[in-house]
Amino acid sequence: MQKALKNQKSRRLFLLTSFVTVLSLTPARMALAQKIEKLVLSDKEWRMKLTEKQFKILRKEGTEKPWSSPLNDEKREGVYHCAGCDLALFTSEMKYDSGTGWPSFYTHIEDALETKLDFKLIVPRTEYHCARCGGHQGHVFKDGPEPTGQRWCNNGEALRFVPHEKG
Ligand SMILES: [Zn+2]
Repeated sequence: MQKALKNQKSRRLFLLTSFVTVLSLTPARMALAQKIEKLVLSDKEWRMKLTEKQFKILRKEGTEKPWSSPLNDEKREGVYHCAGCDLALFTSEMKYDSGTGWPSFYTHIEDALETKLDFKLIVPRTEYHCARCGGHQGHVFKDGPEPTGQRWCNNGEALRFVPHEKG
């Protein structure tokens, strides 16, 4: 009888612990999903905020000429932000020299980018954009370096680099 009672108790404790674990995980996950609030502006508002080049890339899915961005050669430590809404997209640790003429990264800051298939060329490519303002950043390919094997090929005009302050 006592044993049964004890079993029941420990089962209850187990259920309680599981419940608490689920509870403690859920708000954290929700906070992560909710931390990026969407920024929606009209084309007119974007034109006022962006340069002509930036507007074409970010809002009309344009692509800059290779080797045209100074960020190609940027090697300082820092963070790459979306030029449209300033969301942090990449860190300098994620950057590598792909030799393509566009700033390239093997991964990105979690939840900062969203992808969709783009059929502009005959071969479908995966386009990606900023999770906050929807601004087009570039395309992701599967010929990147380890550990991801991904190449996030980004327009330099769509980024704003913020170097770490030397202290
Ligand atoms: Zn953005």
